[in-house]
Amino acid sequence: MALIVRIGKKVKAIIRKLFPKQHYMGLVRRIERVKTTQRVVAMTFDDGPCALPPSPDKGDDLSLTEKILEIMRRYDARGTFDVVGDTSENYPDEIGAEGSASWGGIKYDHYPQFECDRFGGAKHKPELIHQILSEGHEISNHSYRHLLFGKKNMIYNKRKTFESLTEVLTDLRRLDALLEERDGYDIKLSRPPHYVDKIKGGFTSYDAYALMQYQYMAASFDGAGWLPCADGYEAEVDEMINPLKAALEADEDALCGQIIFQKDGYNMASRSPVADGLDLQLKLLSKKGYRVVPVSELMEISPFADLGEGDDCFEEAKWLAQHGRCVAFDDNTVRTSKPLTRGEAAMLIAPPSAIIARIIELMKNPKAPDLFKDVKLSDPYSTAIRWCVENDIMQPKGKYFLPDKVMTGEELDSVIARFGGATKSLSHTATHADLIKGVYLALCK
Ligand SMILES: [Zn+2]
Repeated sequence: MALIVRIGKKVKAIIRKLFPKQHYMGLVRRIERVKTTQRVVAMTFDDGPCALPPSPDKGDDLSLTEKILEIMRRYDARGTFDVVGDTSENYPDEIGAEGSASWGGIKYDHYPQFECDRFGGAKHKPELIHQILSEGHEISNHSYRHLLFGKKNMIYNKRKTFESLTEVLTDLRRLDALLEERDGYDIKLSRPPHYVDKIKGGFTSYDAYALMQYQYMAASFDGAGWLPCADGYEAEVDEMINPLKAALEADEDALCGQIIFQKDGYNMASRSPVADGLDLQLKLLSKKGYRVVPVSELMEISPFADLGEGDDCFEEAKWLAQHGRCVAFDDNTVRTSKPLTRGEAAMLIAPPSAIIARIIELMKNPKAPDLFKDVKLSDPYSTAIRWCVENDIMQPKGKYFLPDKVMTGEELDSVIARFGGATKSLSHTATHADLIKGVYLALCK
């Protein structure tokens, strides 16, 4: 299994290089890591809470989640628990082969395995959720039922998936509402089960998160622990330690701003190496002076992948992001020196409600007419562009908007002036930095 996963990752990396994904500005940013020179790292635990004992059992009467909390406490470390709601509705199903991706069910994921759903999930374990929160950790939404948002590759092709964006939203809201009503907790982050992004009907998890007002929590460093080793438990613990050790030996600052992926559950061989591996990982990190914090705290240091303290435009971009404005691309880069197109300008100028309108209108009518001859409703910047035109901030050219046209400094000056910002007579080609500064000045007054 480990070999298949490794080969799969290599193939994926090659495909990504050959066919790079195009990135657009968006309200939702995929946060893998952030730019900082501080020795701060975030730790995330997927699939919990888990009231079953660690496997193998350590005999100290602690459940796996309690064990993780106990280890974290010892190092003064706090993390983000990416919890599920309840998987007891995932029946009927068949058990898959141990060590394979289907070990917890052919059509569904079970928690953490067959017949044990009542030992896990936020619904059944309010006391674990309470403990997680009272000890200063963060909770994110890993979906209520842990169903795939949409179809994905061969490994998961027998899986039951959600059939529409509405179904995905209903599921996310269920867990969101449970935490809010029962625990008084406001969720801000989410990670889709198995990172499946495509949702039927041409939507993505980014659309779901935009409507939920979530950010997309990804990870940049695999803490392992989810992968079974043929050589057994000790080898699985080693797999959790060795990559981290090697990274820190090569560069003591290697983990600055990274998000580590961990699992609050059993791996595909029904073992939980995290119960030993986490302690050793935290020992390595604390020896190098790292603070371990929840993802939201990491994002307060810097919300972005390419912009950090001391960089030009950082404070302005951070303020705009913290006020819900669309300031970055969906890969969490701000790209301050990138020449600015008209479509991109519309995204930062338009309020979030105007950007979200695209998703809501497409849900109602997937065949809605084009907004301009060169702007379909399904285009990522469509309703932001419409808002800027309707509010007389940007003008179309006849029946066209020219969303890909790079703006001159003078053009941007007049757009910012119409938006109520100060202008700064630019003679060069407009960049994202120019727009960010202009919009910031207009909004923060
Ligand atoms: Zn998961």
